Amino acid sequence: MSSKLDDNVRHLVDEMEHEIGEDGFEVSSDEIAGDGHVLGIAVDPEGDAAVENAVRQILLENGEDPARDGLRDTPKRVRRMYAELTSGYHVDPDRLVNNAILDVDYSEMVVVKDIPFYSLCEHHLLPFFGQAAVAYIPEGRVIGLSKIPRIVEMYSRRLQVQERMTKQIADFLMERLQPRGVGVVVEASHLCAVMRGVRKPGTIMTTSHVLGLFRSADRTRAEFFSHLERRPPTI
Ligand SMILES: [Zn+2]
Repeated sequence: MSSKLDDNVRHLVDEMEHEIGEDGFEVSSDEIAGDGHVLGIAVDPEGDAAVENAVRQILLENGEDPARDGLRDTPKRVRRMYAELTSGYHVDPDRLVNNAILDVDYSEMVVVKDIPFYSLCEHHLLPFFGQAAVAYIPEGRVIGLSKIPRIVEMYSRRLQVQERMTKQIADFLMERLQPRGVGVVVEASHLCAVMRGVRKPGTIMTTSHVLGLFRSADRTRAEFFSHLERRPPTI
Protein backbone atom coordinates (compact mmCIF):
# COMPACT_ATOMS: atom_id res chain seq x y z
CA MET A 1 0.00 0.00 0.00
CA SER A 2 1.41 3.34 -0.99
CA SER A 3 1.41 6.09 1.59
CA LYS A 4 0.36 8.76 -0.85
CA LEU A 5 -3.13 10.05 -0.26
CA ASP A 6 -5.56 11.36 -2.80
CA ASP A 7 -5.27 15.15 -2.92
CA ASN A 8 -8.75 15.70 -1.52
CA VAL A 9 -8.00 13.46 1.47
CA ARG A 10 -4.50 14.87 1.96
CA HIS A 11 -6.02 18.33 2.15
CA LEU A 12 -8.43 17.30 4.93
CA VAL A 13 -5.68 15.56 6.87
CA ASP A 14 -3.48 18.65 6.59
CA GLU A 15 -6.30 20.79 7.90
CA MET A 16 -6.73 18.60 10.95
CA GLU A 17 -3.01 18.44 11.66
CA HIS A 18 -2.27 22.12 11.18
CA GLU A 19 -3.81 25.46 11.85
CA ILE A 20 -4.45 27.55 8.82
CA GLY A 21 -1.59 30.01 8.60
CA GLU A 22 0.41 28.11 11.19
CA ASP A 23 4.15 28.65 10.93
CA GLY A 24 6.16 25.85 9.47
CA PHE A 25 3.19 24.33 7.70
CA GLU A 26 5.12 23.03 4.77
CA VAL A 27 4.92 19.31 4.54
CA SER A 28 5.33 17.70 1.21
CA SER A 29 3.73 14.37 0.51
CA ASP A 30 7.16 12.90 -0.15
CA GLU A 31 8.34 13.89 3.29
CA ILE A 32 5.39 12.20 4.86
CA ALA A 33 5.92 9.10 2.78
CA GLY A 34 9.50 8.93 3.95
CA ASP A 35 9.01 9.07 7.69
CA GLY A 36 7.62 5.60 8.06
CA HIS A 37 4.26 6.82 9.36
CA VAL A 38 1.49 4.64 8.02
CA LEU A 39 -0.90 6.89 6.22
CA GLY A 40 -3.10 4.17 4.85
CA ILE A 41 -5.30 4.53 1.84
CA ALA A 42 -3.44 5.04 -1.28
CA VAL A 43 -3.77 6.30 -4.74
CA ASP A 44 -4.11 2.74 -5.88
CA PRO A 45 -5.80 2.34 -9.26
CA GLU A 46 -6.68 -1.31 -8.62
CA GLY A 47 -8.24 -0.53 -5.26
CA ASP A 48 -10.13 2.40 -6.74
CA ALA A 49 -11.56 0.21 -9.48
CA ALA A 50 -12.59 -2.44 -6.96
CA VAL A 51 -14.45 0.09 -4.83
CA GLU A 52 -16.15 1.63 -7.84
CA ASN A 53 -17.20 -1.81 -9.07
CA ALA A 54 -18.61 -2.59 -5.65
CA VAL A 55 -20.70 0.59 -5.71
CA ARG A 56 -21.88 -0.27 -9.22
CA GLN A 57 -22.88 -3.69 -7.90
CA ILE A 58 -24.93 -2.12 -5.11
CA LEU A 59 -26.72 0.02 -7.69
CA LEU A 60 -27.46 -3.04 -9.83
CA GLU A 61 -28.67 -5.07 -6.86
CA ASN A 62 -31.12 -2.32 -6.06
CA GLY A 63 -32.59 -2.38 -9.52
CA GLU A 64 -30.80 0.66 -10.87
CA ASP A 65 -28.99 1.16 -14.13
CA PRO A 66 -25.45 2.29 -13.27
CA ALA A 67 -24.93 3.38 -16.86
CA ARG A 68 -27.69 5.98 -16.88
CA ASP A 69 -26.70 9.64 -16.93
CA GLY A 70 -27.19 10.55 -13.29
CA LEU A 71 -25.44 7.45 -12.00
CA ARG A 72 -22.53 7.14 -14.38
CA ASP A 73 -20.09 9.00 -12.13
CA THR A 74 -21.68 7.92 -8.86
CA PRO A 75 -19.25 5.07 -8.11
CA LYS A 76 -16.32 7.45 -8.46
CA ARG A 77 -18.01 10.12 -6.35
CA VAL A 78 -18.90 7.62 -3.64
CA ARG A 79 -15.35 6.30 -3.51
CA ARG A 80 -13.91 9.78 -3.12
CA MET A 81 -16.55 10.72 -0.57
CA TYR A 82 -15.86 7.76 1.71
CA ALA A 83 -12.15 8.52 1.58
CA GLU A 84 -12.91 12.06 2.77
CA LEU A 85 -15.39 11.00 5.43
CA THR A 86 -12.85 8.57 6.86
CA SER A 87 -9.80 10.83 6.51
CA GLY A 88 -9.48 10.91 10.31
CA TYR A 89 -7.69 7.56 10.13
CA HIS A 90 -4.77 9.26 8.46
CA VAL A 91 -4.27 12.09 10.92
CA ASP A 92 -1.05 11.85 12.87
CA PRO A 93 -1.93 12.76 16.49
CA ASP A 94 1.62 14.01 17.08
CA ARG A 95 1.30 16.48 14.25
CA LEU A 96 -2.12 17.52 15.49
CA VAL A 97 -0.94 18.48 18.98
CA ASN A 98 2.49 19.65 17.83
CA ASN A 99 3.48 22.92 19.59
CA ALA A 100 -0.02 23.34 20.96
CA ILE A 101 0.53 22.02 24.49
CA LEU A 102 1.69 24.86 26.69
CA ASP A 103 2.86 25.07 30.27
CA VAL A 104 0.40 27.40 31.95
CA ASP A 105 -0.31 27.88 35.62
CA TYR A 106 -4.07 27.56 35.40
CA SER A 107 -6.15 25.02 37.22
CA GLU A 108 -9.77 25.95 36.57
CA MET A 109 -12.06 23.99 34.31
CA VAL A 110 -11.71 24.65 30.59
CA VAL A 111 -14.90 23.94 28.63
CA VAL A 112 -15.31 23.91 24.86
CA LYS A 113 -18.86 23.17 23.80
CA ASP A 114 -21.10 23.16 20.73
CA ILE A 115 -18.39 21.54 18.63
CA PRO A 116 -20.18 20.31 15.52
CA PHE A 117 -19.14 16.96 14.09
CA TYR A 118 -20.20 14.53 11.36
CA SER A 119 -19.39 10.86 11.55
CA LEU A 120 -20.41 7.57 9.98
CA CYS A 121 -22.00 4.76 11.93
CA GLU A 122 -19.93 1.67 11.34
CA HIS A 123 -22.98 -0.59 11.31
CA HIS A 124 -24.76 1.05 8.39
CA LEU A 125 -22.27 3.54 6.91
CA LEU A 126 -24.88 6.22 7.45
CA PRO A 127 -24.12 9.57 9.09
CA PHE A 128 -24.56 10.43 12.70
CA PHE A 129 -23.94 14.01 13.64
CA GLY A 130 -24.40 16.54 16.37
CA GLN A 131 -22.33 18.42 18.93
CA ALA A 132 -19.58 17.54 21.32
CA ALA A 133 -18.62 19.26 24.55
CA VAL A 134 -15.16 18.76 25.94
CA ALA A 135 -13.83 19.90 29.31
CA TYR A 136 -10.70 19.37 31.35
CA ILE A 137 -8.99 20.68 34.45
CA PRO A 138 -5.34 21.45 33.69
CA GLU A 139 -2.47 20.27 35.79
CA GLY A 140 0.06 22.85 34.62
CA ARG A 141 -0.52 22.22 30.93
CA VAL A 142 -3.17 23.44 28.52
CA ILE A 143 -3.84 22.71 24.88
CA GLY A 144 -4.53 25.39 22.27
CA LEU A 145 -8.26 25.95 22.12
CA SER A 146 -8.55 25.38 18.39
CA LYS A 147 -7.04 21.92 18.73
CA ILE A 148 -10.01 20.50 20.60
CA PRO A 149 -12.40 20.64 17.62
CA ARG A 150 -9.59 19.08 15.57
CA ILE A 151 -9.36 16.18 17.99
CA VAL A 152 -13.12 15.69 17.70
CA GLU A 153 -12.76 15.78 13.92
CA MET A 154 -9.89 13.28 13.92
CA TYR A 155 -12.10 10.73 15.66
CA SER A 156 -15.38 11.59 13.94
CA ARG A 157 -14.04 11.27 10.42
CA ARG A 158 -13.92 7.51 10.76
CA LEU A 159 -16.35 4.64 10.91
CA GLN A 160 -17.58 4.95 14.44
CA VAL A 161 -19.97 4.10 17.19
CA GLN A 162 -20.83 7.13 19.27
CA GLU A 163 -19.83 5.54 22.57
CA ARG A 164 -16.35 4.70 21.34
CA MET A 165 -15.82 8.10 19.78
CA THR A 166 -16.75 9.79 23.06
CA LYS A 167 -14.27 7.66 24.97
CA GLN A 168 -11.49 8.12 22.41
CA ILE A 169 -11.71 11.91 22.66
CA ALA A 170 -11.54 11.76 26.46
CA ASP A 171 -8.72 9.22 26.52
CA PHE A 172 -6.69 11.20 24.02
CA LEU A 173 -6.80 14.38 26.12
CA MET A 174 -6.09 12.45 29.29
CA GLU A 175 -3.05 10.80 27.75
CA ARG A 176 -1.62 13.86 26.02
CA LEU A 177 -2.32 16.55 28.65
CA GLN A 178 -2.34 14.51 31.83
CA PRO A 179 -4.84 16.89 33.35
CA ARG A 180 -6.65 16.42 36.65
CA GLY A 181 -9.69 15.23 34.76
CA VAL A 182 -11.54 15.17 31.46
CA GLY A 183 -15.23 15.18 30.59
CA VAL A 184 -16.75 14.63 27.16
CA VAL A 185 -20.44 14.72 26.25
CA VAL A 186 -21.63 13.93 22.73
CA GLU A 187 -25.17 14.45 21.49
CA ALA A 188 -26.04 13.08 18.08
CA SER A 189 -28.78 12.16 15.71
CA HIS A 190 -28.27 8.87 13.85
CA LEU A 191 -29.69 8.65 10.35
CA CYS A 192 -29.68 4.85 10.51
CA ALA A 193 -32.21 5.16 13.31
CA VAL A 194 -34.13 8.17 12.03
CA MET A 195 -34.44 7.17 8.36
CA ARG A 196 -35.25 3.57 9.10
CA GLY A 197 -37.87 4.49 11.64
CA VAL A 198 -36.42 2.39 14.42
CA ARG A 199 -36.59 5.38 16.72
CA LYS A 200 -38.72 8.45 16.54
CA PRO A 201 -37.38 11.11 14.21
CA GLY A 202 -35.51 13.74 16.14
CA THR A 203 -34.29 11.33 18.76
CA ILE A 204 -30.95 12.45 20.11
CA MET A 205 -28.53 10.02 21.63
CA THR A 206 -26.30 11.34 24.41
CA THR A 207 -23.07 9.70 25.51
CA SER A 208 -20.58 10.87 28.08
CA HIS A 209 -17.19 9.81 29.29
CA VAL A 210 -15.58 11.24 32.43
CA LEU A 211 -12.10 10.64 33.79
CA GLY A 212 -10.09 11.73 36.82
CA LEU A 213 -11.79 14.42 38.91
CA PHE A 214 -14.79 14.40 36.60
CA ARG A 215 -15.38 10.83 37.69
CA SER A 216 -14.36 11.00 41.34
CA ALA A 217 -15.71 14.41 42.36
CA ASP A 218 -19.46 15.02 42.20
CA ARG A 219 -18.88 18.76 42.34
CA THR A 220 -16.60 18.78 39.31
CA ARG A 221 -19.04 16.70 37.34
CA ALA A 222 -21.89 18.97 38.42
CA GLU A 223 -19.94 22.06 37.35
CA PHE A 224 -19.27 20.54 33.93
CA PHE A 225 -22.88 19.61 33.37
CA SER A 226 -24.07 23.00 34.56
CA HIS A 227 -22.02 24.51 31.72
CA LEU A 228 -24.04 22.28 29.42
CA GLU A 229 -27.27 23.22 31.18
CA ARG A 230 -28.12 19.65 31.99
CA ARG A 231 -28.17 17.48 35.06
CA PRO A 232 -25.12 15.32 35.67
CA PRO A 233 -25.59 11.57 35.45
CA THR A 234 -24.91 9.61 38.64
CA ILE A 235 -21.79 7.52 38.42
ZN1 LIG B 1 -26.20 2.58 12.32
